[in-house]
This record gives sequence, structure tokens and C-alpha cells, in this order.
Amino acid sequence: MSRIVYVNGEYLPEEEGKISIFDRGFLMADGVYEVTSVLGGKLIDFEGHAARLARSLAELDMAQPISHEELLAAHRELVARNDIDEGLVYLQITRGSAGDRDFVFPDPETTPGTVVMFTQSKPGLADNPAAKTGLSVISIPDQRWARRDIKTVQLLYPSMAKMAALAAGAGDAWFVEDGVVTEGTSNNAYIVKDGKIITRELSTDILHGITRAAVLRYAAEAQMEVVERNFTIEEAQSADEAFVTSATTFVMPVTEIDGAKLGDGTPGPVARRLRELYIEESLKSAI
Ligand code: PMP
Repeated sequence: MSRIVYVNGEYLPEEEGKISIFDRGFLMADGVYEVTSVLGGKLIDFEGHAARLARSLAELDMAQPISHEELLAAHRELVARNDIDEGLVYLQITRGSAGDRDFVFPDPETTPGTVVMFTQSKPGLADNPAAKTGLSVISIPDQRWARRDIKTVQLLYPSMAKMAALAAGAGDAWFVEDGVVTEGTSNNAYIVKDGKIITRELSTDILHGITRAAVLRYAAEAQMEVVERNFTIEEAQSADEAFVTSATTFVMPVTEIDGAKLGDGTPGPVARRLRELYIEESLKSAI
């Protein structure tokens, strides 16, 4: 069965979903995106993703071409039509196609944004075997642009970093800037020392993870101590535990950093507990 995708208000078989070659998302990476995970056929943290989408669009002076209600309805429709039990909904909005290439933004009155959505089925998302072994990461200089708080589709450098990690036999990379960790290629980074959860504070240097916000809230509710501050790779290597968070990996333990194993090299109790808590609480509030 061919997947059903959403393109500018229409539901189409994926082969029929087409975008102009002049689309600014294609020509200039002039677009933003969100990834919302699906568990038990329901959307996890949808409101958080919708709010961050609105913020990304506003920061780029891009009009929101789809209402909040339509956005939610389309997410649900795609989950239903593609029979997604565990997986994700990808959403991308670009500044549209003005019919030529031009650095000047087109007038949104005459050039509407492009809205594309599709699903990816990922059975076993919650029961991910990687969460039992943990992830190894390498460090790599953060050479992305300076507005990482905006979720744009400029993913070439993170993609290169991921390839460098794979080439080094690791699973992912952590970006380092001015001697401290910013975040992972597609996730927020944390260490745990003496029971304290340490993660970089929010700024324009990192993406404001929707999973991060939820995990820190659940951690606080469970009386765990959270400290928002920078940390170095050296500090991370001597931490008791480390982990990353994102919409599709939830809480994923990190067991090795630049070749140094953390503790006994297996996922630590704080990361395991937070993963359980996150999945449990997310299922309760899924829509
Ligand atoms: N940082 C970066 C650079 C990311 O790409 C992502 C995932 N898109 C995250 C953090 C995690 O964000 P979220 O929890 O909203 O998926």
C-alpha cells in the first residue's frame, strides 16, 4: 500500500505529492519543520510541537499557512490513513515558490507557504533495543549557524556530523563550541553527576527541545535535581551517566563519549527511570 501524504491541503499517494523546483525550501533551505512521535496511534506532545512551529515561523517572518486546528486534524488524518501505531509525523513549511530564484522574500499575500506532511512507521519505538545498550557519541566542532533555536531544514551539517560519527564507529555526535557541549546532532544532551541532571540552558545556541521540556518537568515532579549549565566533554566523560532526548528517541542513554566508557558502560538508573517516566506520562497525555 502506498503511503498517503499531505501536500497543501490535499491527501495524496506519495508518488503524486509534488513541489515546485522553485520552492524556497528546496533552493534556499527557507523552511521549518517539526517531528511529532506517535505511540499507540496517538500524538505525543503535539501542543509543544505546534507552539514551537509558530515560534520558528515568527522568528523567520514567515506566515503560518495552516491553522492550529487544521494542523492537528491533518496529523490525525495521516496517522489514521497510514495506520500508524508507533512512528512519527513529519511536517515541513517553506516560504513557498515565487516562480523564480530571488534572495528577497516573496510577498506572502501572493506566494503562499508550502505545507507538506508525511508519516514514518517505526514499530518498536517505545521498546527500542538501543535504549538497553546505550549510545556511543563522538564530539565534533559546532559549525552550524547561530540561530539553532529556530527549527529550520538546514540539516546538512548535522547530517555530516552523523556521518562522521558512523565513520568513527559511534552512533551519534555531540557538538562542541567554545569548549562546551551545545547539543547532539538531532537531540539535547545531558549528563548526570551525584544524582544531579545537568543540561545546557536554553538560548539561541540550541534547539528548545519539546522532549527536553517534558523530561525536565517530569524529573522535577519526581524530586530529581536539575541544573541548567554548560559542561565540557571531559566533565561528561567522568560523569556517572549521560543521555540525550528527542521526539523520536525519547530518553536515550549515552554510554560512551569519545571512546571513554561511562561508569560500567551500561545505561544508568537515572536515564532508565527518565525514559520510563517520559513514555508513561506521554502515553497518558497523548491525543
Ligand atoms: N536538538 C536538535 C539539534 C534537534 O534536531 C532536535 C530534534 N529535532 C532536538 C534537539 C530535540 O528536540 P525535540 O525534543 O523537540 O525532538
